[in-house]
Amino acid sequence: MHSDPRALIGAIEAGGTKFICALAQADGAIVARARIDTRTPAECFPDIAAFFDQASAAHGRITAFGVASFGPIDIDPASPAYGTFTTTPKPGWAGARFHDVLGRFGVPMLVDTDVNGAALGEWLYGAGRGARTLAYTTIGTGVGTGVVRDGRSLMGFSHFEMGHIHPSHDRVADPFPGWCPYHGDCLEGLVAGPAIIKRWGTSLDHLADDAAKLDLIGGYIADLAADLVLMHMPDRLIFGGGVMKTPGLIDVVRRRTEARLNGYVRHAALDAGLTRYIVTPGLGDDAGITGAIALGLRALTA
Ligand code: ZN
Repeated sequence: MHSDPRALIGAIEAGGTKFICALAQADGAIVARARIDTRTPAECFPDIAAFFDQASAAHGRITAFGVASFGPIDIDPASPAYGTFTTTPKPGWAGARFHDVLGRFGVPMLVDTDVNGAALGEWLYGAGRGARTLAYTTIGTGVGTGVVRDGRSLMGFSHFEMGHIHPSHDRVADPFPGWCPYHGDCLEGLVAGPAIIKRWGTSLDHLADDAAKLDLIGGYIADLAADLVLMHMPDRLIFGGGVMKTPGLIDVVRRRTEARLNGYVRHAALDAGLTRYIVTPGLGDDAGITGAIALGLRALTA
């Protein structure tokens, strides 16, 4: 995936519960990998530095870093605060910067969001191959979407925050008020893993036999899927994350998205039943770290 076969890429997928750190060759093969529990930066950063020190000692000098991280985080390479967490409510993370832990290696670095990274990974090697415009959504501890166009993630003055749109919420059918501290019943507030546990006392995969519950959650997610079609006209939608592993949920999302669009958008990409249009990640749980490695390789030429 890069012309310099000696390139050795340090990659981080930073999530709300864990960091995956990896050292990869130019062909993308991972030669060292570690999982570090997400705590405060003061607690995690030394572990991250130690991993890359050890991996580098064993395999050679690191030539670039790629980071795919939870946010909100500054992903504008032209910004002085590039790579800095902004308004996150996670204790200790506001103002933390990946350059604080990786800067001492003195090599180029690219930082993007976790979902943009996963979108890039899937676009390169997974279920997004062949798509010009690809939207990758995670429905897990949080909800977010990354959109890649010809291998470049899209943004405005900051990254997109599509997990916080408001789906249609019938408060009679679903009295749960939502749990987003900013919006209550935004999509993340209604369908993220913690929202489902707060509402029903258990995760959705334990409720997979309850068609009404699956239909409720799948319907909210379909509101986002339909909005993604209307706003970006992607060639394909990928839905990953822990909640999406619930058996049968993706079928509900397909059916409800098709119903929501109601034939308004007609294109060969939108197959009948949307079984080819709305898919699960081809790389499984490795989409994010694969994208982070790709960002590192891109940092070499950026
Ligand atoms: Zn929200």
